[in-house]
Amino acid sequence: MLCLGIESTAHTFGIGIVNDKGKVLANQRSMYTTEKGGIHPIKATNHHILLCDELIKNALTEAKLKLSDIDLIAFAQGPGLGQTLRTGAVTARTLSKLLNIPLVGVNHCVAHIEIGKQKTKLEDPVTLYVSGANTQIIAYAGNRYRVFGETLDIGVGKFLDTVGRFMGTGFPGGPAIEKLAEKGKNYIELPYSIKGMDFSFSGVQTKVRQLVESKKHSNKDLAFSTQETVFAMLTEATERAVAHIGKNEVLLTGGVAANKRLTQMLEKMCKARGVKFEVCPRALSGDQGAMIAWQGIIEYSAGKRQKISETKVDGKWRTDQVEVNWIK
Ligand code: AMP
Ligand code: MG
Repeated sequence: MLCLGIESTAHTFGIGIVNDKGKVLANQRSMYTTEKGGIHPIKATNHHILLCDELIKNALTEAKLKLSDIDLIAFAQGPGLGQTLRTGAVTARTLSKLLNIPLVGVNHCVAHIEIGKQKTKLEDPVTLYVSGANTQIIAYAGNRYRVFGETLDIGVGKFLDTVGRFMGTGFPGGPAIEKLAEKGKNYIELPYSIKGMDFSFSGVQTKVRQLVESKKHSNKDLAFSTQETVFAMLTEATERAVAHIGKNEVLLTGGVAANKRLTQMLEKMCKARGVKFEVCPRALSGDQGAMIAWQGIIEYSAGKRQKISETKVDGKWRTDQVEVNWIK
């Protein structure tokens, strides 16, 4: 079985093609970026609409397939930005009708976890999912991916993008902050905000903005201090989750998983606890269509069927609302 998966929850429009063994045959994506400022939802939507056709063609070329070879269409039904989500949903409905093949809408966050498990061979991890909009500590228990800890305000990726904006970088700011941080040496104290296994970033964000505006410190030192503070928060909360839930694997995934310092901190923590640690391969940790396609195969194989009338997007669809019937 071949599934074509469509990702359009936010900045990225992606088309992936995956077979039922989890082999990724194509993974084409285009990310809406800016020189200055954050994501503009209408501009991101236009970006997706304009590139949709080309990305489908490129994915088929990459996989050496024809559209008629595809057996199943999957798309990210939520969570995300309503407008961008709809571009993927419309594409999925159109392809499904045109080819007369089934379609399944899947949860974007759950797809991140499943592709991560498939590629790292972890079986039952505590997942730290760090992306632009989402930051959650997730583990499987009783037919759901339960959220054991999460951000109380913004996602860590969005936080880093905003801090980048204060410092004058374009979108995405995360990689730019990482580069600046490598040159920083002096730690400037910032608010450290953990509540149980939850955490928040808006207080740190305000403080960093004030410090940038004060011009008392270099952006390098501020970027360094920002990373040290928020990644320590994430590592501490993940450690607490591992200790309480009693699992012995940790998976790091989402766009921010590309960050070397975060990886280093988690690696150290896991080593000290004797827990296995894996990072989802970079090509599959950010937003892309292959994870959506793989999730489509998993859920279709477990019996999921949807009518077009059931494919309305849900911008607020939570990870723990998905009934998991594919894990035995
Ligand atoms: P996603 O929404 O999963 O595609 O992740 C996108 C987010 O990852 C954006 O907020 C980026 O700033 C962030 N990101 C990407 N690369 C890095 C990096 N090397 N360090 C920190 N954040 C990053
Ligand atoms: Mg994501």
